[in-house]
Amino acid sequence: MAEFDLIARIRARAAARDDVILGIGDDAALLQVPAGKQLAVTADTLNAGVHFLPGTSPVDVGWKSLAVNLSDLAAMAATPAWCTLALSLPSADVDWLDGFLDGFFALADAHGVALVGGDTTCGPLAIGVTAFGFVDPGAALRRDGARVGDDVWVSGSLGDAAAGLALLQQRMAANCVGREAADFLKARLERPSPRLALGRALAGVANAGIDLSDGLLADLGHVCKASGVAAVVEVDRLPMSAALTGVPADRRRHWQAAGGDDYELCFTAASRSREAIAGIARKLGLPMSRIGWITEGAGVEAVTADGSSWITGQAGYVHFG
Ligand code: ADP
Ligand code: MG
Repeated sequence: MAEFDLIARIRARAAARDDVILGIGDDAALLQVPAGKQLAVTADTLNAGVHFLPGTSPVDVGWKSLAVNLSDLAAMAATPAWCTLALSLPSADVDWLDGFLDGFFALADAHGVALVGGDTTCGPLAIGVTAFGFVDPGAALRRDGARVGDDVWVSGSLGDAAAGLALLQQRMAANCVGREAADFLKARLERPSPRLALGRALAGVANAGIDLSDGLLADLGHVCKASGVAAVVEVDRLPMSAALTGVPADRRRHWQAAGGDDYELCFTAASRSREAIAGIARKLGLPMSRIGWITEGAGVEAVTADGSSWITGQAGYVHFG
């Protein structure tokens, strides 16, 4: 099977949208941005062996390659519309491609995202996705909006994906958490749910936001740097799923504070927004935890309940680090 047959296979599954004037098939796609909206654009690559373990199910790779991009749009309070897909494949493996497309389009279709173009080449397994979304002018949730006195919040639970990775790499035995919990943790790693509804709901409520891909302390550090402020995080308030109950506290805390691939949203908001945020949590059925506050200065300090500094070995994942 040649490049063009693979593209035809992909094209056959791409959904239509009224604002896609010309999709897959020409030299470029033609897309109509709705009047009065801003276009939010983001790109992320998944490399085999770096972002997913060799042997990961193609369905999971397909899902996650889009999920990490939709998570970035969520963190901007944008509504996703289109995406492109750059595929580098070691061989024309149709079974792998079909599995990949199952996962990719399951998520794309769930959010009404149309695949409008891409590139297909032969090389080491790598997937590059670019996602495009719409946001009202001024409504985007940026990293540079945190103010001294803001609360720091996080959605969902933290550390599940890092625990899932430890299970897959056999650094933790499944019987440490139990079979059902182990499946949940692996799914949190391989099938993240981009928090799109949350991101949109936070427009006008939160002052700054970011999605958690590299670990809470590292990612919150990006918000602090962009905003010219510091943050204090209470490690005992970091939300934990029931699946992590059996994990020793030290290890669990490290995963919650510094583990990657959570794809939750971390955001800051004035204290007068607490009720609004509680309302959003109820409406979405997604817990929101107030984990710290913004102060003057620089950097992120993690403290325990008695206020003493908590030190973790590693702040987050850094490429070329
Ligand atoms: P060109 O050589 O002009 O760049 P290609 O032959 O690479 O065109 O691609 C033909 C069409 O198929 C283009 O519209 C391109 O966007 C689309 N396409 C190629 N690979 C993919 C892919 N992996 N996913 C989606 N669309 C793709
Ligand atoms: Mg061309």
